[in-house]
Amino acid sequence: MATTARDLVGGDRSVVVARINGELRDLGTEVTDVDVVEPVSVGSPEGLAVLRHSTAHVLAQAVQDVFPEAKLGIGPPIKDGFYYDFDVETPFTPDDLAQLEKRMVAILKSRQKFERRVVTEEDAVRELADEPYKLRLIGSEGGADVMEVGGAELTIYDNLDAKTGERCWGDLCRGPHVPDTGYIPPNAVRLMRSAAAYWLGDQRNEQLQRIYGTAWPSKDELRAHLTFLEEAEKRDHRKLGAELDLFSFPEEIGSGLAVFHPKGGVVRRIMEDYSRRRHEEAGYEFVNTPHITKGTLFELSGHLDWYAEGMYPPMQLDVEHDAEGNVRKQAQDYYLKPMNCPMHNLIFGARGRSYRELPLRLFEFGTVYRYEKSGVVQGLTRARGFTQDDAHIYCTKEQMGLELDNLLTFVLGLLRDYGLSDFYLELSTRDPQKSVGTEEVWLEATETLREAAERQGLELVLDEGGAAFYGPKISVQAKDAIGRTWQMSTIQVDFNLPERFGLEYQAADGSRQRPVMIHRALFGSIERFFAVLLEHYAGAFPPWLAPVQVVAIPVTDGHNAYLQDVAARLRGRGVRVEVDTADDRMQKKIRNAQRAKVPFMLIAGDDDVTAGAVSFRYRDGSQKNGVPVDAAIAEIVEAVETRVQV
Ligand SMILES: [Zn+2]
Ligand SMILES: [Zn+2]
Repeated sequence: MATTARDLVGGDRSVVVARINGELRDLGTEVTDVDVVEPVSVGSPEGLAVLRHSTAHVLAQAVQDVFPEAKLGIGPPIKDGFYYDFDVETPFTPDDLAQLEKRMVAILKSRQKFERRVVTEEDAVRELADEPYKLRLIGSEGGADVMEVGGAELTIYDNLDAKTGERCWGDLCRGPHVPDTGYIPPNAVRLMRSAAAYWLGDQRNEQLQRIYGTAWPSKDELRAHLTFLEEAEKRDHRKLGAELDLFSFPEEIGSGLAVFHPKGGVVRRIMEDYSRRRHEEAGYEFVNTPHITKGTLFELSGHLDWYAEGMYPPMQLDVEHDAEGNVRKQAQDYYLKPMNCPMHNLIFGARGRSYRELPLRLFEFGTVYRYEKSGVVQGLTRARGFTQDDAHIYCTKEQMGLELDNLLTFVLGLLRDYGLSDFYLELSTRDPQKSVGTEEVWLEATETLREAAERQGLELVLDEGGAAFYGPKISVQAKDAIGRTWQMSTIQVDFNLPERFGLEYQAADGSRQRPVMIHRALFGSIERFFAVLLEHYAGAFPPWLAPVQVVAIPVTDGHNAYLQDVAARLRGRGVRVEVDTADDRMQKKIRNAQRAKVPFMLIAGDDDVTAGAVSFRYRDGSQKNGVPVDAAIAEIVEAVETRVQV
């Protein structure tokens, strides 16, 4: 009998596929003694993707068992799971999903074998005559981007009964898959939800129904994933934003455009104030620029060539008519700005610049508008209007290294002050096919970024060829409290815009030179950073950022005046404090303050008044009684000033 990959590496059932001569293939693939065969276990990212994609097949089989009229779309693995698209009469209900899960469990337990069969195009077309979408894939719609086709040959995977070998089901697919459905633990699979989706993601196409599922190597891993999702949901900034009365997205304003309520406004102001102070210390100069501009500016910058889709459509202004109603002066296109850079360049170029002024660091909390597609708009993390903590640094080529080095230290220090501490860096390097600027400057800038990154002692991930055409970039990725990675700051070197805007400075020898330009936003945008911090802290901001830092709670009405006096003293020290004088009982007031995630509660009853003291109650529920008022104020002020994370 012929040798298969399974004979060589497949003894252990955690091995789900093989890498044969570098390519992922089924364990049942026949091999010869010159083939290099390596095991791929379900614990590896590729193995996990194969497990999940195989589960998508099982879902499709279950759907066609339960809804025989359903037509098949595509079913790829995705992050943490898989989906499969179906053309069905009516959308799936939660009851349908429950029924499908049951059917899937039966298929998994029956250990059906995945068997690969090479077919000619004619055979495939004949066999799949009832599957219009699969026929379109064979007709090369979707190209090689989908799992179903795109291999060297067309293949159908048949599901065979474990005992009789009879064919139970089959699907057009290039594979590979796990050897049989028994490799997928039934108690580690879950269907999550269904949603409408366009065929191949194109909104000009038919609308299908997509079922999302998740699959793991073990029940424990599924459980850990579901717990993580629950935790993430609890922290969802859109939910917390409403619960804590921080911000909202009024429909009357439009998708992706937020308003900040007073409490959210306080947090935002503190975030900005601290950032502004740190920027002042680091030698930045503050500028302001308008929200709209003539289209000609974005022609000059090139944005209208390569960024027009991300911009709101133009307003046509300045049309002038004569008495007869004829146009005397043509309309001028004005755009909402999607970026601040072109305007900062105009400030640099407003007068002659000397090398003595460099590095020139122009900073602005610049509000920009980007026309994100409605499908991708998401709370504050992907909004249509937002304010960048944006700066552009103009320096000489010689200054670039030191500047980037200092910048990275500055960025990481600032992010740490806001409470993020787990970082890695990503360096995007040149794509030689599309880039401006000489090889030499690119090399120098990239090397400088790499060295600066290495000096921080952080993990550096290379994004080879991933840079924009105008220069290399470093981005700071931060992990939050539940281990999710967020892209935070970006530092982007730009060889293009100084050229396009003809920016120059006079060098020491009197010659005219082009400055190097560095774009950098540390928060990304204030809104997005706000959302990240809100989720990171699950709404329990550290004292210095908390919208209300102290709630004073009298045991009875008789203690109101005493606490009003303590509150006045705290306010005198800049502390944001409220005295809860509502008619509620004390216990209710404590619960309200807990729900609002206020860092400190100060409670006072008769004993406290007599002793000139208060009782502290902390966010974790612990309590400290009889603290002299002076000491209480000192403790709170210190917690705020030192930005402790409690
Ligand atoms: Zn497949
Ligand atoms: Zn910029």
